[in-house]
Amino acid sequence: MKSQEIRATFLNFFKDKQHAIVPSAPMVLKDDPTLMFVNSGMAPFKEFFLGNAEPKSSRIADSQKCLRVSGKHNDLEEVGYDTYHHTLFEMLGNWSFGDYFKEEAIAWAWELLTEVFKIDKDILYVTVFEGDEGDKLPMDTEAYDLWKKHVPENRILKGNKKDNFWEMGDQGPCGPCSEIHVDIRSAEEKAKVDGKDLVNMDHPQVVEIWNLVFMQYNRKANGSLEPLPNKHIDTGMGFERLCMVLQNVQSNYDTDVFTPLIREVETITGKNYSKDEKVDVAIRVISDHVRAVAFSIADGQLPSNNGAGYVIRRILRRAVRYGFTFLDKKEPFIYRLVDVLSEKMGSAFPELKQQKQLIQNVIKEEEQSFLRTLEQGLILLNRIVEETKGHTVSGEKAFELYDTYGFPIDLTSLILGENGYKLDEAGFNKELQKQKDRSRAASEMSTDDWTVLINDADQEFIGYDALEANVKITRYRKVTSKKEGDMYQLVFNLTPFYAEGGGQVGDKGYLEDVNGDVVYILDTKKENNVIIHFTKNLPKNVEAAFKAVVDAKQRYRTECNHTATHLLHQALREVLGTHVEQKGSAVHSKYLRFDFSHFSKLTVDELRDVENFVNARIDGKLPLEEKRNIPMDEAIAQGAMALFGEKYGDTVRAIRFGQSIELCGGTHVKNTADIWHFKITSESAVAAGIRRIEAITNDAVKDFYQENNRAFFEMKDLLNNAKEPVKALQNLQEENSSLKKQIEALLKDKAKNIKGELKGELVDVNGIQFLAKKVDLDAAGIKDVAFELGGQYNNLFLLLAAEQNGKALLSCYISKELVANKDLNAGQVVRELGKFIQGGGGGQPFFATAGGKNPSGIEAALKEAKAYLN
Ligand code: ATP
Ligand code: MG
Repeated sequence: MKSQEIRATFLNFFKDKQHAIVPSAPMVLKDDPTLMFVNSGMAPFKEFFLGNAEPKSSRIADSQKCLRVSGKHNDLEEVGYDTYHHTLFEMLGNWSFGDYFKEEAIAWAWELLTEVFKIDKDILYVTVFEGDEGDKLPMDTEAYDLWKKHVPENRILKGNKKDNFWEMGDQGPCGPCSEIHVDIRSAEEKAKVDGKDLVNMDHPQVVEIWNLVFMQYNRKANGSLEPLPNKHIDTGMGFERLCMVLQNVQSNYDTDVFTPLIREVETITGKNYSKDEKVDVAIRVISDHVRAVAFSIADGQLPSNNGAGYVIRRILRRAVRYGFTFLDKKEPFIYRLVDVLSEKMGSAFPELKQQKQLIQNVIKEEEQSFLRTLEQGLILLNRIVEETKGHTVSGEKAFELYDTYGFPIDLTSLILGENGYKLDEAGFNKELQKQKDRSRAASEMSTDDWTVLINDADQEFIGYDALEANVKITRYRKVTSKKEGDMYQLVFNLTPFYAEGGGQVGDKGYLEDVNGDVVYILDTKKENNVIIHFTKNLPKNVEAAFKAVVDAKQRYRTECNHTATHLLHQALREVLGTHVEQKGSAVHSKYLRFDFSHFSKLTVDELRDVENFVNARIDGKLPLEEKRNIPMDEAIAQGAMALFGEKYGDTVRAIRFGQSIELCGGTHVKNTADIWHFKITSESAVAAGIRRIEAITNDAVKDFYQENNRAFFEMKDLLNNAKEPVKALQNLQEENSSLKKQIEALLKDKAKNIKGELKGELVDVNGIQFLAKKVDLDAAGIKDVAFELGGQYNNLFLLLAAEQNGKALLSCYISKELVANKDLNAGQVVRELGKFIQGGGGGQPFFATAGGKNPSGIEAALKEAKAYLN
């Protein structure tokens, strides 16, 4: 059975059991502080399990894109080395939210695997939770008895808390689980070792394919468990592993999910898969990682220097490194796999097809830039080796190369090995640990349990219509972090505060009780669909009635920027073309930032047209037309642009100003005239094919012009109030460059004279033309003179010193013939003589330079030079 059909069969099976079939949620999470990427099928449904929201259907099935490369689930280092862990994989799942429980979940899983997919029962094992003393939990006999109806008892295994008790995180819903494992070894292998003994033992052919989680407890912050009011089912089956079983192969990479990619890598690199283990690992790494990176970019997450973007960058770099080292690919090639990928997976995941060009561009540029880093790193590594005494490179040096230049440590180690050097690995690991400790200490955080004052799950957001409200605190908790100290998180029964989301910052403001006791709300964020207000202090009386007041000025400025962002989006599509798509935005009170796909720098004319377009709509006084809680289809029918796939169950809000219609949860001005004026402050590149515009509106524009005006008058003043300041400045520049040329010519003359003098002063010492002298030249002049004289003699030993701005400089030139025959080394000379001037330096064996802070040591250094000739 082809993989496409396997996916469809799974979904149809559960559709027949009254499940709503929903598309995969985006893999990149934007508004969840606890998670960067969806790492299991349940992540997008967290709010349903926590009881913060109601699903539309109590039964759902889907195939969810998952990424396990950071945090609690991190399989990155396994990928490539084994045959059944991926970074990105699909998790097939069926879900019950307070609907069916263990009996149906177990019966249906068994029916699907053995009757629909017709997997031989004799290769399956199932596990049940054996209980745990610490948690005072008994064995899951309920599950055991249910399995007994389908499976002989010798195939039902008991498992411990590690394998058979599933927890969402340190806190939250959890419960026992039953896993289903397959044993796909040959009959011969099976005769040698009983499959039972290999379950959960990391055997590549005895692997877990499906995990059925029975969500029935809630783990509290103090570690104790309480029963959940509603019991849920959460199952996850690895799609690629299921394909491996159904296609009768021994590795996920031999299924039709991966073979087209592997063939393409073979074609591009000229290497063959399954001939040489090292090459195989590299090919697996690359065909796995290109999927993870391509899907992330399609979801709107570009590689970058921090957060989720950095995780993606590291995955791609890992792929580049394996290609560089084991497949001899020194130029970009991974981007070329995107064609095959989007062809094979584009029908199940249309975002790949739509964004193919962008994905290719971004990957290619990332590859190029990392390959440059690798080349640079190789040069630095050579230098380190040159400076190394003995045969072991210190851990500190290797760490610097790794940390500052991004040069991978395994590559360092490999190259050193090939050149007969060793790496002080213990030293390196010590440095790495130190760095980890530093960042852990900085991010350490602990969260208390909620103190519940009022049991009220429905929290209403009224901030589209009001900036003030009378509220009650329904629950609160303390969060302690090293970075920010103690903070309190408060939840209200209703709130006018907008929580950070959709690029827009969270509201600030205050809370006041009847006695005038005030606490400031410093930020507002959403967690699992609950709006949380952050304060430094807890109100004196938490049970009081409060007036909650949003900082209206900040909100208003933010709204100007948000509405302007929509108009900017429209303007860009109008001026540049409809290939422009939003790739990210940040809406603050002081400025806005908008990232979008476009292939070249905007010209001055284009920028002006965009600005004019937006300002024309501001002048046009367009009113806000808002439609809340409408179904997605309706919004799209009205012409709204759907951005990165919305999550299942979301109704949307459509925001319209004239011809600009967007799906948006943010807050906006009532009329575009409120914005007053729009001004672009910068335009730049973020990545290949992605541009960024920063802009300001309203008050900020006034400030901007005033500041510019002030700078202009200051400049005019400096130009003696010239009538035409631009012309005056151009004159100054011209004068300056002609003066520079004159100085250069003078310096050249001087160097020529000095060269002539020095030539006359060379003395023959044991057949070597020798001179050690202090000269009146700068570093560049010394280098010129040394190289010119060097070109005239093949037995030259020159040590030139200079004093400049209170600093000392030593440069040594030794003809290459002397370096080779007399064992002389300029680098060594300046390092040793550098001591006299209290400095250091280095370079190459024939030319090296040292700088130091003690010019009075120059004489001594020059005197010492002759000693090298003996
Ligand atoms: P394993 O022990 O094999 O790593 P797991 O216990 O981490 O699996 P779960 O978290 O229970 O797995 O995930 C449910 C299912 O998802 C697994 O049964 C497996 O089929 C699949 N799966 C988990 N991790 C990966 C991965 N890195 N690559 C591919 N499939 C995976
Ligand atoms: Mg795992």
